[in-house]
Amino acid sequence: MKKKYNPPFIEKNDVGMTNKFGFTSVVDYQDKIENVLISSITEEYGSPVMIFSENAIRNKYREMKTALEKYYPNSEISWSYKTNYLQAICSIFHQEGAKAEVVSIMEYDMARGLGQKGSDIIFNGPGKRREDLLKAVSEGARIHIDHLDEIVLLESVSEELGMMPQVAIRVNMDTGVYPQWQRFGFNYDNGEAMRTLQRIVTGGKLKIVGLHTHIGTFMLEATAYYYSAKALLDLAQQLKDKFGIVVEYIDLGGGFASRNTLHNQYTPGEFASPNPEQYFASIGRAFNEAQFTREEHPRLIMETGRVLVAEAGYCVASVIGKKDLPTGQRAVILDAGVNMLITAWWYNLKIKPAQPLSGTSRNTVFYGPLCMNIDVIKPDSVFPDLQNNDKVVIHPVGAYNVTQWMQFIEYRPNVVLISETGTVELIREREYLDDIQRRERIPEHLRV
Ligand SMILES: *Cc1c(COP(=O)(O)O)cnc(C)c1O
Repeated sequence: MKKKYNPPFIEKNDVGMTNKFGFTSVVDYQDKIENVLISSITEEYGSPVMIFSENAIRNKYREMKTALEKYYPNSEISWSYKTNYLQAICSIFHQEGAKAEVVSIMEYDMARGLGQKGSDIIFNGPGKRREDLLKAVSEGARIHIDHLDEIVLLESVSEELGMMPQVAIRVNMDTGVYPQWQRFGFNYDNGEAMRTLQRIVTGGKLKIVGLHTHIGTFMLEATAYYYSAKALLDLAQQLKDKFGIVVEYIDLGGGFASRNTLHNQYTPGEFASPNPEQYFASIGRAFNEAQFTREEHPRLIMETGRVLVAEAGYCVASVIGKKDLPTGQRAVILDAGVNMLITAWWYNLKIKPAQPLSGTSRNTVFYGPLCMNIDVIKPDSVFPDLQNNDKVVIHPVGAYNVTQWMQFIEYRPNVVLISETGTVELIREREYLDDIQRRERIPEHLRV
């Protein structure tokens, strides 16, 4: 093959200081995901394409579950639907034994559609409406209460159905990580949480079965979970001492960090993110310090999301064009933008060429195809020269992108799953114009 001509280029060396991880200008390439050639996937499913690995999902789940059970055998994992509610992905978690954690009636219906019983669903979220609660309560779901009005609503639902809804309250507290999430649930530190529990007991229409918190997401500090567990265990103790109520479970939510790296984060995610063992050791410490007798030890529920699926997801995109910016940076326009990779706004995603590259490495910005100045997939990386139609692999993108993706000027692409046996299965077909316009109506007088 004829070698490509790369014109000489003189660049001011302004890519920043080296840090203790070195000067990372070397970019290796990745032409396979597991044993599947990326080019074979793009030939069949086009570009851009989202690719998930079934092996990676199962392995990560088993690693989590093993670590969790090592520190606390009486436990369960509820898959956080909003992290990735493609049916194939949720089904893998359910096959592994995960239950469902949902934050809206849409997600509740999704979980029911995948065969989850109401009693296997935890219903969180600040926006539950009366009809949502009527359905979920009558099917035996556990309702996690966010605010006082929800208590009043649930009490009237309880009367209407002649049933005692099973509830937990969501609690927020200071865990030493700031900014503290304060909008959800009831505050522990100022006594609001305990007053709320008292209010529920006094009402006599709801059964308190658990206590819940979700202190934040991408928590890089494992000890935060020691403090959140300690607070909920203290509330459980008070419930028992004051009202004789023994809760069935403590639910510590999600928030474990994946191996991603935040834009302002100095240490790369591979080194900075605690592993499951470290999180569970912190939680275990709080449980060990609690005063419950063996029979009264509550079950521990985790509602894990991003850490279970982030690294199992890849996006393969193509170079549409290139240009030089006035800053001297090279700009590369990809066919995948923040319409389908919204987490690029938080994370410094990794981009690798999907084929060997040569040419001068330069400071490069990766843009998506949108007419939006903020459609930046990676703001600044030292990258060898790319040619039009070259492919790049963007990773890890398995969490939140296929749920938060937005309908802005582009069709959503194919999503495929590399199965355990290495076959490539289509799990969400790309969109066409009809998918976008099917629900629209043009009033008679506007027809041309
Ligand atoms: C989003 C969410 C989770 C999952 O959070 P991750 O950070 O993805 O692990 C768990 N519980 C609740 C209530 C949530 O809103």
